[in-house]
Amino acid sequence: MFKLIRRQIDFKTSEKVYKGLIASIIDYCCMFYINATQKNIKRITRLIYHCALIVVRGSRFISEIKLLQELGWNSFQERTNYLSITMFAKIKLNCTPRIIYNKFFVNLPKNVGRNAGKLKVIFSKKNKFYNSYYFKMIRMWNNLKLQIRQCDNYPDYLDQMYKQYEVHQYKKIKLFHYDTKIDKIYLQLRFHCSKLNADQYKLNFVDNSKCNRCNKNRQETIHHFFLDCAAYDTQRNILINNIQSLDDKLKKINKRQIIQLIEGSKHFQVGYQTYKNIYQYVKLYIVTSGRFV
Ligand SMILES: [Zn+2]
Repeated sequence: MFKLIRRQIDFKTSEKVYKGLIASIIDYCCMFYINATQKNIKRITRLIYHCALIVVRGSRFISEIKLLQELGWNSFQERTNYLSITMFAKIKLNCTPRIIYNKFFVNLPKNVGRNAGKLKVIFSKKNKFYNSYYFKMIRMWNNLKLQIRQCDNYPDYLDQMYKQYEVHQYKKIKLFHYDTKIDKIYLQLRFHCSKLNADQYKLNFVDNSKCNRCNKNRQETIHHFFLDCAAYDTQRNILINNIQSLDDKLKKINKRQIIQLIEGSKHFQVGYQTYKNIYQYVKLYIVTSGRFV
């Protein structure tokens, strides 16, 4: 049904529909997934992957890790661990009814000596109990950083958790929209599943990965398309001039950094507004080059 609705609504709304109707149900049962079978975990991971594909209208060749990074979603395992340990912290910091705290912590034997700050690890001979929520959470809690374990109240815990680990709900600001045809082409370029010959060759669609627009006899990669190919020299000059005029930091930009910007790499980053402008210029380059018509 989500797939059918996606055609009628834009990118932002479809993401909200996913978070409201699908992700919320998955999050609600997070504690039960701790001891779930691999088969069930695989099923839910696939469900999240397909939802992400529907949101961006991507093809099935896109790598799952890259797709989730692009959208700023946490992976299923990260999110389950985060929500489970947060629930455990709530119980420990008395944010839940007292009876649950008593069940969990009153009868728990205490550590002495150098491990006094940690919870006592309970050993179990059977895997079923060893991997269950209570047993696993004690081990995870002991692996957390000292500042988090020493928190007295829940807001402090959340603050510390956010500082120490970046796993926190749905992170990142959304830069890109995936509604028009050019957005889709740009997405494919970023995910290396575009109509460029090098990408098509990797996916076994064509026999030759060489560029047939110029005489350089090079592979038609994203790097060649944006920075090297002789067929798009005029468009490239406009693109580089536009990028250089945006910011002082970008005046001495080199070719490697331009590709890092286009691919959204973490090594070279600029402000949100500048990124937005660069995105417009890159789209202009794709349209004027006429490669994907
Ligand atoms: Zn070329």
